[in-house]
Amino acid sequence: MSTNQKLIFIMIDGLRYDTAVKNMGYLHHLVEKGQASRYKVISEVPSMSRPLYEVLLTGTPPHQNGITSNHVVQLSKEESIFHLTKKNGLSNATASYHWVSELYNSAPFDPMKDRIQLNAEKPIENGIFYWEDHYPDSHLFADAQYLLESKSPDFLYVHSMNVDDDGHKFTGDSAGYRNRVIAVDTLMATILPRWLKEGYQIIITADHGMNDDGQHGGTTPEDREVPLFIISDKVETGFFDIEVPQLQIAPLVCELLMIEPSAVMKKLEIQGVK
Ligand SMILES: [Zn+2]
Repeated sequence: MSTNQKLIFIMIDGLRYDTAVKNMGYLHHLVEKGQASRYKVISEVPSMSRPLYEVLLTGTPPHQNGITSNHVVQLSKEESIFHLTKKNGLSNATASYHWVSELYNSAPFDPMKDRIQLNAEKPIENGIFYWEDHYPDSHLFADAQYLLESKSPDFLYVHSMNVDDDGHKFTGDSAGYRNRVIAVDTLMATILPRWLKEGYQIIITADHGMNDDGQHGGTTPEDREVPLFIISDKVETGFFDIEVPQLQIAPLVCELLMIEPSAVMKKLEIQGVK
């Protein structure tokens, strides 16, 4: 087994499972050729963004962590992956929507002060944040590339918003939404070979899906089912026909980073993890 513990976590906001399966050709190329694995994840509910950012990054459910709606603007009280990397001597960075800064570094977000945060004293040591939902994914991934080159973080969290934004504008059943998913897959096809060459493991998932009314929040498969792609020699490759609870993502990240999960995270039980 490799001792590599560097990880890039790509979170594509609002990417529903069936649309990813039908439209992300590059990621499926990697699965078909034995380079990656694909799972279906069932999100926690409410299938809303801010609660699920906290679910993904702390492995705790909303009723426990208190981040129960998008309107709860406060620092997280939980131990996040950012905290855990620092605790274990690993470095971290993120290019993310500003709500991630509000959860782990500073709330409320002040665009004039908080856009670029390079401060090793903070839970997020290196952060570049945007606050417009149409901030182009192409620029976001370039922000991430800058952090990767200049900071060489052990853990890099990259959070894109255009899929969610177009889902709200055009609905989950629209050419606009599907074409945006293809555009993100094309970005992946451009950037991932580069990041893999740098020796990173990569996971790609989403917070929630998008329903045909152009919304999310409820319990339908369109709201809750999201993909999980993993590129790591710690995980078997191929298509896994199983449903993974979203609370498994944070312990998976800890496993790939080879650090102890927090005391409140679930035990890692994903088939295929070696
Ligand atoms: Zn949304």
